[in-house]
Amino acid sequence: MTDILVKNVKNVQNKIIASTPAGKQPATLVAVTKYVDAGMIRQLHALGINDFGENRPDVFLEKYHALYDIRDELHWHFIGNLQRRPVKKIINKIDYLHSLDRLSLAEEIQKRADHRIDTFLEINVSGESSKSGFQLDKLSETVEKLANYDKLHIIGLMTMASKTATDDELHCYFEQLHFAQTAIQQKQYTHAPCKELSMGMSRDYHIACKEGASYVRVGTALFKDL
Ligand SMILES: *Cc1c(COP(=O)(O)O)cnc(C)c1O
Repeated sequence: MTDILVKNVKNVQNKIIASTPAGKQPATLVAVTKYVDAGMIRQLHALGINDFGENRPDVFLEKYHALYDIRDELHWHFIGNLQRRPVKKIINKIDYLHSLDRLSLAEEIQKRADHRIDTFLEINVSGESSKSGFQLDKLSETVEKLANYDKLHIIGLMTMASKTATDDELHCYFEQLHFAQTAIQQKQYTHAPCKELSMGMSRDYHIACKEGASYVRVGTALFKDL
């Protein structure tokens, strides 16, 4: 175990706590391990981290099998863009899907999942045409349509902020996502309790925590200087 890894993990955990509003539960740290191998995931697990995020189906499967002996202790989060074809290979092995970004993906999951999948709806808050995700102004009708897919359990909303956003813009995007999440939650849908917010990456998780994130997805900050 390297001292640097221990220090990075502590720094991130401390910054999450320091950025959480008084009286609120700190966000769960999802360690994004797409840059590192299964051995590094074991080291993080030894440091008390149980939540891991991967963004590519094949790489996820490789690590899932490499860590099969401790699978009961790990929560796997799939955070990347997901095509229809690999859905059947991964959907029953993950614990959370953060990136439901279109209805055709919901259809494929409905066919392939053998239980309800805890899912975040990915929202394109900034509205850039190059980004995936549902539009905020279509959110209520999207959530209503998803009632037809009983394999999906919509536990929250997720967003990926643009790399060029200023701190003020980031606050504004995360606040908008929080506002939208609360509005859906208040409707008390059984298929979409929508209590969670997955937002914040290495560059901006401190801002996301201030705006109410319940899951932050952090990679680079954990592995720098290693
Ligand atoms: C890679 C990735 C992250 C983590 O990004 P870092 O900047 O390395 O912390 C978070 N979310 C998604 C969807 C990603 O693909």
